Amino acid sequence: MIRGTTRVAAVIGWPVEHSRSPQMFEAAFAEAGLDAVMIPIGVPPDAFAEVIGALRAMRAYGACVTTPHKLAAAAACDELSDAARVIGAVNCVHITGGRAVGHNTDCHGFADALRAAGFAPEGRRCTILGAGGAGRAIAHGLELARASAIDVIARAPDRVAWTAARPWTASELRAAFARAELVVDATSIGLADRDADAIDALPLDALPAGAWVASLVYHRRTRLLERAAAAGYSTVDGRGMLVHQGARAFAIWTGAPPPIAAMRGALDASLAGT
Ligand code: NAP
Repeated sequence: MIRGTTRVAAVIGWPVEHSRSPQMFEAAFAEAGLDAVMIPIGVPPDAFAEVIGALRAMRAYGACVTTPHKLAAAAACDELSDAARVIGAVNCVHITGGRAVGHNTDCHGFADALRAAGFAPEGRRCTILGAGGAGRAIAHGLELARASAIDVIARAPDRVAWTAARPWTASELRAAFARAELVVDATSIGLADRDADAIDALPLDALPAGAWVASLVYHRRTRLLERAAAAGYSTVDGRGMLVHQGARAFAIWTGAPPPIAAMRGALDASLAGT
């Protein structure tokens, strides 16, 4: 029940209707016994900073920030965490002491999800496909988790300023897969498997036995994960990352341990039948 005492958190996107954060946080606040609510705010890019200003004035907990606002959020915050500064993007805003502090919990959330699934990134060789916002966050998260090597493969490596990306060619993919203990698809291909040919051309046969394959897509099982599982590799989908980036936000806002099982249950229930 919403009362005069209820604290507000938001999820901000454009669009925002697809977001599962309200369901995850409703479950989390209830499980933790907190008088708090999460509201979805769909706002176009030119009005984004106004919403951050309003949340600051309201003394809200903060906001989860999703596409297309993660770069704008870094610019709108008064202060950034180390990870948000390195990555240049913010997916969690914390309002504290009248200031908006920007965090990047995607990077830690991905590593948390890998560990929860049974893959410890420490000392492991990783290959990331795609060098967009998520690829950059994941690369930093794997670096913080002390992965031993990170290869990034991109269609336009010359446009990637934050790492020495390798070109998306058959020979580079084969060489990177042959040395990978983990391959992460951080492209947007799996969202709708639009470019299925690009996925079918990935040389899963080059992966060492025991390698893991991860996708960031959470609303459906991607063609890549189906191919990888059929070939006997362990797979991780994007649900764990979504839950764990949210769990990190919950802990930042409330100072309480995140009720991860309740968040996962609410996410699974909201996606059932999609
Ligand atoms: P983004 O910034 O738009 O980056 C997408 C990347 O995919 C770009 O590097 C793009 O390359 C590459 N790409 C697209 N089509 C390709 C193709 N046919 N072949 C090779 N590369 C291709 O998007 P993002 O924010 O990083 O998100 C990427 C994915 O992660 C999305 O599916 C998103 O939903 C998911 N995600 C999930 C979570 C979670 O919590 N589970 C969190 C964040 C993101 P170009 O630059 O050459 O176009």
